[in-house]
Amino acid sequence: MTTQGLVMINTGHGKGKTTAAFGQALRAAGQGLKVCIIQFIKGETKTGEALALASAFPGQVELHLAGTGFTWKQDMETVKAAALAGWQLAREKISSDAYDLIVLDELTYLIGFGILTEEEVIALFRERPQRLHLVITGRDAGQGLIEYADLVTEMRAIKHPFQQGIKAQKGIEF
Ligand code: ATP
Ligand code: MG
Repeated sequence: MTTQGLVMINTGHGKGKTTAAFGQALRAAGQGLKVCIIQFIKGETKTGEALALASAFPGQVELHLAGTGFTWKQDMETVKAAALAGWQLAREKISSDAYDLIVLDELTYLIGFGILTEEEVIALFRERPQRLHLVITGRDAGQGLIEYADLVTEMRAIKHPFQQGIKAQKGIEF
């Protein structure tokens, strides 16, 4: 049976984009697929998903942090350098043909910030090994990416505890 690699996007302004991507990675790992996750933006504090995956699937699920933490605390050059290093890593991982599923978490922000163009992102996806599934997350996925993808889900915020003034909590938000 030949695998048809899918491009899957979790976008929208509601909660659940990253956690759904990790759920997908968990499902894939359980079926013996080789998974690589690159988290853009994040990097400052260890998230629960990073802590859990680092030890749970040695040799099967890889996780790379390619961010500097939250952007409003950093100068743009630092953010950009980390993002470009992450993108270079993504290029290598995608071309390697060593994975069945690659997650590029918060990739859409790199396009939003003007660090990458939608065209170069799609060009890399087009050249990927045919069996490779990709999961992309982040708010405001562009029209070009949406058209190219096979599966697009929009998380829509109906209510969020943030609106009640409840701050991000360990184990729920990170
Ligand atoms: P999660 O990582 O929980 O799956 P996400 O990936 O969908 O969330 P991001 O846009 O990456 O969310 O933003 C990360 C943080 O922003 C999370 O802590 C999340 O709880 C919070 N967040 C998501 N949606 C909203 C919202 N509508 N209002 C306020 N904060 C939000
Ligand atoms: Mg996210």
